[in-house]
Amino acid sequence: MNQHPNMHLVDVSCSACGASFRVRSTAEAISIDVCSNCHPLYTGRERTVASGGRVERFNRRSALATV
Ligand SMILES: [Zn+2]
Repeated sequence: MNQHPNMHLVDVSCSACGASFRVRSTAEAISIDVCSNCHPLYTGRERTVASGGRVERFNRRSALATV
């Protein structure tokens, strides 16, 4: 069973960190801005910033509601 007859290995290059790897895809070539190497979600570098802002906003709103 071959669900995707056009699937083949393509080189994916990350423009942010320069990492390259291969995936199976129907595309000829893939260029991405972030990859698992440099994405904040994986590196954890900006995780506190991303989630902190949302929580902070929620806390501020709930604080206003109690006053
Ligand atoms: Zn990357």
